Amino acid sequence: MSGAKRYHDLCLNCSAPLSGAWCSQCGQKDPSPHPLLGELVREATHELAHWDGKLLSTMRELVLRPGQLTVDFLGGRRARWLPPLRLYLITSLVYFLIGPTIGAITHRDERVQIVLPSSLAAPGAEREAQTQVLKPEVATAIDNSSIMRIVGSQKLQRAIENPKEFGDAISRTYPKVIFLLMPVVALLLWGAYRSTVPGYVPHLYFSLHLHAFGFSAFAVLHLLRAFLTNKWLALSLGIAALLTLVWYATAAMRRVYGGSWGRIVGTAAVVGAAYSVIFLIAISSAAIVALALF
Ligand SMILES: [Zn+2]
Repeated sequence: MSGAKRYHDLCLNCSAPLSGAWCSQCGQKDPSPHPLLGELVREATHELAHWDGKLLSTMRELVLRPGQLTVDFLGGRRARWLPPLRLYLITSLVYFLIGPTIGAITHRDERVQIVLPSSLAAPGAEREAQTQVLKPEVATAIDNSSIMRIVGSQKLQRAIENPKEFGDAISRTYPKVIFLLMPVVALLLWGAYRSTVPGYVPHLYFSLHLHAFGFSAFAVLHLLRAFLTNKWLALSLGIAALLTLVWYATAAMRRVYGGSWGRIVGTAAVVGAAYSVIFLIAISSAAIVALALF
């Protein structure tokens, strides 16, 4: 902070006495009474470079040392890292923007989808455009069900006639559901570890960091897949990403919560199973919404 001068005796922002160029109460830099253009530019570039540097070092720590950011935040070492919620919003925003961006650049409709085992099943085999028509009595039965009274059987008919488009519409809800379920993961971890780490918020930190890594990993995956024409290679990458995520979550849990590997793996399995059930319920609800909008 060389070359920083103090121009006033009191902070112009909060009126606290100044002992240096920065206010010890509110942190504002004492501004020059005659602002120069160079100062404005320097301020902007300093802010940007500082921010960039922090983002890069935080991302490096997030990727290379699973769980360490959470450990640092819980231990009070915070100023050096981007706050967890901001990191989560930035990484998920990048993830949600990367599909449309790739599409715009490659003129390919690379939809953002999180690869799930069901969609991994038969990647090579194109789902043939099959046209099925509902039997009248089936249509009537569906019309009378409570869900279809909202959705309507024409929508269902359209979905059946366009299985690929409807499948894509549902797939597009996965990342949004995962985004919304982030606090639920924290709740499950709180349930498992509330005696070791009391309070909900520490587990929220963990969940934010875990999801920040997940969205980053899948952003990279989409970027790589955009340049792959080989479907099997793309599939292998998807499986590798999922395995990486499982490994990462386990390693992060180990670093944050401690305990034996046996307990970590056991807890991860229980939390994973509970999450899967909640995820399926959420996805089913999202599918009904997708059908209503289809
Ligand atoms: Zn001040």
